[in-house]
Amino acid sequence: MREPQSITVNDDERMIPTWSIVAASLAFVVVEYYFWFIAPTQRHHPASALGFRIYFNLTWGFLVSLYFLMLGYVSKDAPRRAMSTRFWMMICFVMPAGIGAVLYFLLRQPEVSRCPACGAFVLSDFHFCPQCNYQLTASCGNCFRTVRATDQFCTRCGHDLATDQTPARLRVLDH
Ligand SMILES: [Zn+2]
Ligand SMILES: [Zn+2]
Repeated sequence: MREPQSITVNDDERMIPTWSIVAASLAFVVVEYYFWFIAPTQRHHPASALGFRIYFNLTWGFLVSLYFLMLGYVSKDAPRRAMSTRFWMMICFVMPAGIGAVLYFLLRQPEVSRCPACGAFVLSDFHFCPQCNYQLTASCGNCFRTVRATDQFCTRCGHDLATDQTPARLRVLDH
């Protein structure tokens, strides 16, 4: 399991790791095998209609696969948010019916990355690095809301961005 120190800016690695895709595929096969070959021999009542069985079996297979893909996603997503990967994978693993995953999405923190200038951890909504004052995103010189690098005027207050000491579009160095 990867730990938070491997955070990089612009980490564009796949969000679903290979191990969880393999686990999900295996789980799907196991579930299908169980429902098609094991379960019918243990029932004493007549088998239900084939259409219903296909629907039922595939649904369970996909749900179990989704569970493993979810674990894989959390293992990749938690470090980007400086959250405890082990703790949240445990929660997702032990909570029934995907409640752990729902909790994770409700409680997850904003993404963190590193300041390109000094390497300090910064949240995605920061305009400036709290350690070195490096400008992380373009912002209006009047209302300090985020603007796009190509904007001439602030979309919130109409401020002429060209009159800023350093125009926002020239200050963007990252993002
Ligand atoms: Zn910095
Ligand atoms: Zn503004």
